[in-house]
Amino acid sequence: MNPSPLLSLDEALKRLLEKAIPLADTHVVSTFEADGCVLAQDLVSDLQVPAFDNSAMDGYALRTADLNSNQGILKVGLRILAGHAPTTLPPEEVARIFTGAPVPIGADAVVMQEDVFVVDDSHISFKTAPVTGQCIRRKGEDIDKNTVLLSKGTRLGPVSLGLAASIGVANLKVMSPPRVALFSTGDELIMPGDVEPHLLPPGAIFNSNRFFLRSLLERCGCQVSDMGNVPDDPEKTLLALSGAALDHDLILTSGGVSVGEADFVKPAVQSLGELQLWSLSIKPGKPFAYGHVNNRTDPSKRAHFIGLPGNPVSSLVTFLMLVRPFVLSLQGCTGLAVRPTQIRADFAWPRADKRREFLRVKFNTKGGLDLFPNQSSGVLTSAVWGDGLVDNSPGTTISPGDMVNFLSFTDLMS
Ligand code: AMP
Ligand code: MG
Repeated sequence: MNPSPLLSLDEALKRLLEKAIPLADTHVVSTFEADGCVLAQDLVSDLQVPAFDNSAMDGYALRTADLNSNQGILKVGLRILAGHAPTTLPPEEVARIFTGAPVPIGADAVVMQEDVFVVDDSHISFKTAPVTGQCIRRKGEDIDKNTVLLSKGTRLGPVSLGLAASIGVANLKVMSPPRVALFSTGDELIMPGDVEPHLLPPGAIFNSNRFFLRSLLERCGCQVSDMGNVPDDPEKTLLALSGAALDHDLILTSGGVSVGEADFVKPAVQSLGELQLWSLSIKPGKPFAYGHVNNRTDPSKRAHFIGLPGNPVSSLVTFLMLVRPFVLSLQGCTGLAVRPTQIRADFAWPRADKRREFLRVKFNTKGGLDLFPNQSSGVLTSAVWGDGLVDNSPGTTISPGDMVNFLSFTDLMS
């Protein structure tokens, strides 16, 4: 049998994103609870921020023209604190003013308190000539009325929540989380806690993918149903998958997508819907499956199916490169791509591979990247040690000093 042709990562991503039609459900959350959610509509400001001219400093508000007639000495009349309603500055006076307080009508500059001479209890003069407009934060200079502050599809973060609050928004309409059923596959897998590590039976391993995949999905805004290990039984596998398709948007499995492997998930998906097995031209992470499982009670509905490879680093890399953009797209999220940065390699990678490689690397104290010595797809330690991945083009060797494309785990896992 001919090996299946390799599919480039870009092509695989394109095909997946074509399928990732944003889900329709939205809901309203408190702005406090919206971190990580995706905005379901543009956030438009009804307000100008600041809402009034206010002082940028603790100091004195003045009418600069008054300085011409008083030998530079002016009476301190008003005292205006933040939260006070705007007042009018009497002629030939200055106002003691504090940061955030409304600049009185008539004043055209604020001088910080460090730049004045206190003449007596109620008079001051200025160390330098004030310039009109100085130290005044103008009404609307941050946000104008009717501006789109955050557009639909934006993933909210701490600062955007603060921005929404600054225009008085207490609740936000966001996309509902994709419902994801997560399965692992493999008779060798044992759950941590079920067996003491020193009593692990020969040939068995602990299920690690289940832990990081669940947590990565949650970080991408998904609501995860952790279905555990699919039992190695055709009937039970069919039942588990068709049951999950009833109330999930995506079924994600790990393991059992290698070519020719005896497992029950592939035939089950094939009989319940459709399955495509892809050989991705990346390393690690070659085997990958995409398809769907029909909803047996409603023929108009179906759940997406994605099968990730079982080797932990392959599972991780394919999740970050393909599943992350896929589930974010289901939420209508824009700006999916993680931008690489050019960093110096302080290592050699002398053997080019025909596939695009993702190498686990870590920053050293000289600002360059070091390579984890064991790049095997089973070595999860490499990804914990590393700060990210070098995205190395097919057929490319790396010499120390070369600039390489670095993708940070912080960005990829956020
Ligand atoms: P597979 O893709 O099923 O052929 O699995 C490839 C390798 O990954 C095998 O060594 C499996 O034991 C291992 N593996 C599969 N699933 C998991 C998992 N959930 N956690 C840790 N290792 C796994
Ligand atoms: Mg397996």
